[in-house]
Amino acid sequence: SSESAQEESSAMRMIFIGPPGAGKGTQAARLVAHYLIPHISTGDMFRAAVTEGTPMGQEADRYMKAGQLVPDEVVIGLVRERLAQDDTKAGFMLDGFPRTRPQAEALAEALNADNLTLDAVLLLEVPDELIVERIVGRRSDPETGEIYHLTFNPPPAELADRLVHRKDDTEEAVRSRLEAYHSMTAPIVPFYEGEGVLKRVNGVGRPDDVTSAIRAALG
Ligand code: AMP
Repeated sequence: SSESAQEESSAMRMIFIGPPGAGKGTQAARLVAHYLIPHISTGDMFRAAVTEGTPMGQEADRYMKAGQLVPDEVVIGLVRERLAQDDTKAGFMLDGFPRTRPQAEALAEALNADNLTLDAVLLLEVPDELIVERIVGRRSDPETGEIYHLTFNPPPAELADRLVHRKDDTEEAVRSRLEAYHSMTAPIVPFYEGEGVLKRVNGVGRPDDVTSAIRAALG
C-alpha cells in the first residue's frame, strides 16, 4: 500500500561505529528515542544470551571475557535473524555491528536483497588515551539501561546497589578490545567512506554536546 511505501521511505537505517567506550550505547539510546527505531546492539544481545545461559551465550562469553570478537558466523547469523523481524521496517540503529569486513559485506548483501540502503554510518571518534579511563569507571543500570561513569556522569546514590560493572570493562580486556577495534573494525571505515554515507563525529566532550554534534552531522 502507499502507506507502507511511505513508511519505508521515512525509515532511518543507521550504524554506529567507534572504539569501546566511545559513547555508542549512550548516544544510540538517545537517537532511537528520537527516530522511533529499534536499537540493535549485538553486545546487548550477547550479554542477554550469556545471562540466559544459551549455548550461543556460553560460546560468546568466552570471547567477550577476553575482550575478543565473537566469530563472524555467529554474529552474522544473529543479526540476520534480528533484521528479519518486523519492527526493522521502521528502520534500525545497529550499535556494535558490523565490526569486521565480512560482517560489513554480509550486511550489505542482506540490505541489497531487500533493495534497502543505509542512511548514515556514524563514526564516533575518541582517542585511545581517553578510552581506558572511560571504560574502567563505567557502570550501567540493568533496570533502565542507563549508562553512568563514576566520575564523569555519577549515578544517583540510591541506585548504587543495583549498578553493574561489565566483566569486560577491565583494563586488561579493554586493551584487547581496543586492539581488535584498530585491527578489525577501523578497516571497514573506508568501505563506508567510499559509499558516501560516513559521518565522522567527535566523541570527546559532554554527552549532550556529542548528541548535538550527531544531530548536526545527520542534518
Ligand atoms: P559491545 O557491547 O558492543 O562493546 O560488545 C561487547 C562484546 O561482545 C565485544 O567485545 C565482543 O566480544 C562481542 N561483540 C559484540 N558485537 C560484536 C560483533 N559485531 N562482532 C564480534 N563480536 C561482537
